[in-house]
Amino acid sequence: MMELIKRLGLNKNEVGNTSHISVNTDICKTCVDKPCINVCPAGTYEEDKENGITVHYERCLECGAALFACPFGALEFKYPEKGVSYIYG
Ligand code: SF4
Repeated sequence: MMELIKRLGLNKNEVGNTSHISVNTDICKTCVDKPCINVCPAGTYEEDKENGITVHYERCLECGAALFACPFGALEFKYPEKGVSYIYG
């Protein structure tokens, strides 16, 4: 059986043209701790002084951690138009 780290390395993420993550920046502007930034393993969320948060949807691994971490329900997530292809050897 192939090691987990090698299997994950076979994942192929095809990025679509539109974000699959919607964010209510009015809420994010008032969010002090911004836990979405710290729980996301892919660096999808970045603090933005003007809008509260910037979402780099193309980095998303679809783990869903930020949805659970956000205490205010500011995020909406749908599956990406192209999704992630898993190519197992
Ligand atoms: S998405 Fe949620 S956790 Fe992240 S900054 Fe906005 S309100 Fe805060």
